[in-house]
Amino acid sequence: MQTELEGTEEQVDEREALLEDARARIEDAGDADAVKAVERDFVGKKGSVSALMAKIPSLPPEERRDFGQGVNELKRAIQDAAQAKLDALAKARLAQDRSASDFDPTLPPPAQARGSLHPITQVTRELEDLFESMGYEVLDGPEVELDFYNFEALNIPSDHPARDSQDTFFCDDAGHLVMRTHTSPVQIRAMERLEPPFRVVVPGKCFRQETTDATHDHTFHQMEGLVVGKDISVAHLIGAMKTLLEGIFERELDVRMRPGFFPFVEPGFELDARCPFCRDGCSVCKQTTWIELLPCGLVHPNVLRAGGLDPDEWSGFAFGLGLSRLVMLREQIDDIRHMLSGHLRFLEQF
Ligand SMILES: [Zn+2]
Repeated sequence: MQTELEGTEEQVDEREALLEDARARIEDAGDADAVKAVERDFVGKKGSVSALMAKIPSLPPEERRDFGQGVNELKRAIQDAAQAKLDALAKARLAQDRSASDFDPTLPPPAQARGSLHPITQVTRELEDLFESMGYEVLDGPEVELDFYNFEALNIPSDHPARDSQDTFFCDDAGHLVMRTHTSPVQIRAMERLEPPFRVVVPGKCFRQETTDATHDHTFHQMEGLVVGKDISVAHLIGAMKTLLEGIFERELDVRMRPGFFPFVEPGFELDARCPFCRDGCSVCKQTTWIELLPCGLVHPNVLRAGGLDPDEWSGFAFGLGLSRLVMLREQIDDIRHMLSGHLRFLEQF
């Protein structure tokens, strides 16, 4: 018992001596670098406090706890002393700067660097304005979606081959919950919520388990459009698409429609626009002078039914605009992976 106490006293003395030494050296330090160097000498990896720490395993078990606590307190005390000295140095420095003859308190502060909106945000906002001017409402929908809204209600039953082409991220083992593979689920949600006739657009993120390359990413942006009313025809669809493209490219572009298969529309089309960058072919349009822009069509009766509408009474058209692709086209971006890279070198260009 006696020897143990003595040993502890010795240890306390050792720590107090270390702390005193540290405080004295910190006090003498002339600038921030010197303070940090002293701090390192004591609490750094090879510092004397760490050396004390390393002793713990060799102590009798009943002493280890108190000893460890003591060393931690020492470490904190040294760090506090260093911080207090750093604060004092910074304050002194500021006071000195302020009293210097060339200090002018009326000068404006240095300009803050300002960021800019992401090109996808810019185009989304432009399109939202454009569609709102045509009487559309902007809707939002969940990014984690029920299988029912993402597939079933869109006329893609569980055995439909179209599911295979949408490499889906599943969120549960049963496959009831998915990361939405398109913005189309909001078509059904809109029909459930809104009283027809209505027009909506839905910008948002979509997710597919893709092997990424210059034109594919696991996360991309779409803008869904849905118009429901009486006697909606392909002519309405073409009219809306031409207005849309004029809004985006700020001039009139010829469009053409090719038949395309999408389970949730009937008839379905691929809409192409004249390449806005050339007259006789370029790399963007792969020398064809046409650019594939968006799938669209008249809403399939099954989809109207799934949304609770009577297909004999109501009809509609829908389109799915690839926002990421559109931004790439307009800004001539050559790799979709730049979009979500977060690299300032990319973002600062917009
Ligand atoms: Zn071209």
